[in-house]
Amino acid sequence: MFGSVSPESPSTEVNVNMAGLCCPVCRGALVREAAALRCMACDRIYPEVGGVPCLIDPVVSVFGHNPPPAPAASLAARLLPALSGNPVSADNYRRFVQLAVAENDRPRILILGGAAVGKGLGAALGDSGVDWIETDVFPSPRTLLLCDAHQVPFEDSSFDAVIAQAVLEHTLDPQLVVSEIHRVLKPHGMVYAETPFMQQVHAGAHDFTRYTHLGHRRLFRFFEEIESGPACGPGMALAWSWQAFLTSFAGGHRGRRIAALIARLTAFWLKYLDPFLVRRAAAYDGASSFYFWGRPAPEPLDDRDLIASYRGIQ
Ligand SMILES: [Zn+2]
Repeated sequence: MFGSVSPESPSTEVNVNMAGLCCPVCRGALVREAAALRCMACDRIYPEVGGVPCLIDPVVSVFGHNPPPAPAASLAARLLPALSGNPVSADNYRRFVQLAVAENDRPRILILGGAAVGKGLGAALGDSGVDWIETDVFPSPRTLLLCDAHQVPFEDSSFDAVIAQAVLEHTLDPQLVVSEIHRVLKPHGMVYAETPFMQQVHAGAHDFTRYTHLGHRRLFRFFEEIESGPACGPGMALAWSWQAFLTSFAGGHRGRRIAALIARLTAFWLKYLDPFLVRRAAAYDGASSFYFWGRPAPEPLDDRDLIASYRGIQ
């Protein structure tokens, strides 16, 4: 494996973090060769991109060995008040990491889609008692490893926890990604995922799927639930709808930017209603996104039990 086979491989903390790293295609062991990793089983070569290993199979993945840089936030996005707000994630992450640390000596937590720090995750990432493995398909200063979540390049049971915030909607096959999360988790590990329900297209072409609360729960049916519920609320959902309504009048990129700017200036305040609204049962029918926090389960959740667990008011 990377860090344990090749004599040229320096014995650094990075290698400790990378324990269990393997070929994303055949899960064979990797050796370092110059500025690349080679699979000892199938001979595939994985180059370094931006100084980090790119464990992406360019045949299967839509992301090759030359992935684009992470999308930069526009000037308006940095200067104007945001339409988006997440009233639950910071506290969820605090409790999630607290439990991971309580249950494991030094938990290894894999972050999928970690090129940018997820909403509410910043404080938790400062926990020095955790080995954070931040991965994405985009290079960024935070990305320790480039990988495609459909083919996680780690051996079975490599992690104490996995985080996938605002990731599954951008994957072509979310069920496959969730099964990969299940595979790389230790039996008593934990997953934390947030996925949109009422949100318009973002990230352009790389946006495919939305989930109701129960649809999201069924996606994680091979997990037992610790907690789940609305993350981003109906206020944000309305703000995004208002933005999508205004941008519908635009004929091109410039008009869209102007419409989005007007939306921000007129609807940013709606998210401030969400700390109140996400606690109401109706949010299960109209939230902007949902979270799921759970552990691998030996048996899938029965669909009748799934339906009986509806929490909305319809
Ligand atoms: Zn291989």
